[in-house]
Amino acid sequence: MYDLIVIGGGPAGLTATIYALRKRLNVLMVAKDLGGKTQWRLALPWIEDYQVIRGLEIVNKFKGELEYLDFARHMEGVEKVEKEGNNFVVLTQGGGELRAKAVIVATGTKQTRLKVPGEKEFMMKGLCYSALSYAPLFIDRTTLVVGDGDLALRSAAELATIAQRVYMVKATDKALDTPLGHKLQSSENVTILKGHEVVEVKGDQFARTAVVKEPGGTVKEMDADAIFIEMALNPNSQMVAGLVDLDEEGRIKVDIAGHTSMPGIFAAGDVTSGFAEQVLIAVGEGAKAALSAYEYLLPQL
Ligand SMILES: Cc1cc2nc3c(=O)[nH]c(=O)nc-3n(C[C@H](O)[C@H](O)[C@H](O)COP(=O)(O)OP(=O)(O)OC[C@H]3O[C@@H](n4cnc5c(N)ncnc54)[C@H](O)[C@@H]3O)c2cc1C
Repeated sequence: MYDLIVIGGGPAGLTATIYALRKRLNVLMVAKDLGGKTQWRLALPWIEDYQVIRGLEIVNKFKGELEYLDFARHMEGVEKVEKEGNNFVVLTQGGGELRAKAVIVATGTKQTRLKVPGEKEFMMKGLCYSALSYAPLFIDRTTLVVGDGDLALRSAAELATIAQRVYMVKATDKALDTPLGHKLQSSENVTILKGHEVVEVKGDQFARTAVVKEPGGTVKEMDADAIFIEMALNPNSQMVAGLVDLDEEGRIKVDIAGHTSMPGIFAAGDVTSGFAEQVLIAVGEGAKAALSAYEYLLPQL
């Protein structure tokens, strides 16, 4: 029986695990990989790494420690978490059962993919999923945003503050009938292409062109310095659905200290209802969740 199982090996899970180790808890991190989405880096011809706030130094330090401390990590996917008396059973994808007095869920989100030719080939080479991280690098550039919800509107609005032109593909009337939607419709450097679909991405070393199908079926090619796929982020929360409260998007509801609705289960990072998907935020939330788990466990230690 572990004191604590941390599910997820991204910035939130790594930080929570290292904090728990420092507190001398008997902790196990269960994850499909070490590093999570910090392994993704957008490459663009004019970008220098230092221009992006990535928080990699701290993540790589914790990752290095966990690589070394093999007793504290188990590399496998988790299928489900169940309650067993006052404790929890973590069921792994290979059929294993791991038991703990407390659990931290730090499993991040999955991007909705466009699923068109060229998407895989140019992924992170001019084709990206995080305007939140990279928008400030597009001064006077041409960008194309694909998406029909809040995320796309937010991304297009941020890009519009500095880019020379922003094309928005897929935006719906419902999404556009919002304060941000109205702002975008009245912005001179934003072109909204209603009813259009991106059907292919082309390029050389980098994505350069979106092949766009108009509502009438005509296909045209549009050049852009970057193509942002900003469709829904799907939280990896299924393993605790039914055990803890989720919001309408499936994110785990947490309070400011990372407590979920179930005593003994904590959550941190992108999988939660907290604000903004960024490495340094996930790191901070991972630390908080570990300290909250420690407070919870202290009477039993
Ligand atoms: C393309 C892209 C670029 C980005 N660039 C930046 C940037 O430059 N700067 C910045 O601050 N932020 C950036 N972000 C955002 C940042 O990467 C995330 O906010 C951060 O990684 C979230 O950390 P996390 O630990 O919550 O989740 P993640 O990093 O997503 O880690 C989740 C972990 O959980 C594991 N996992 C998932 N499901 C299971 C399961 N069922 N069982 C076991 N393990 C599971 C995963 O394998 C992974 O180890 C970027 C995001 C994207 C998509």
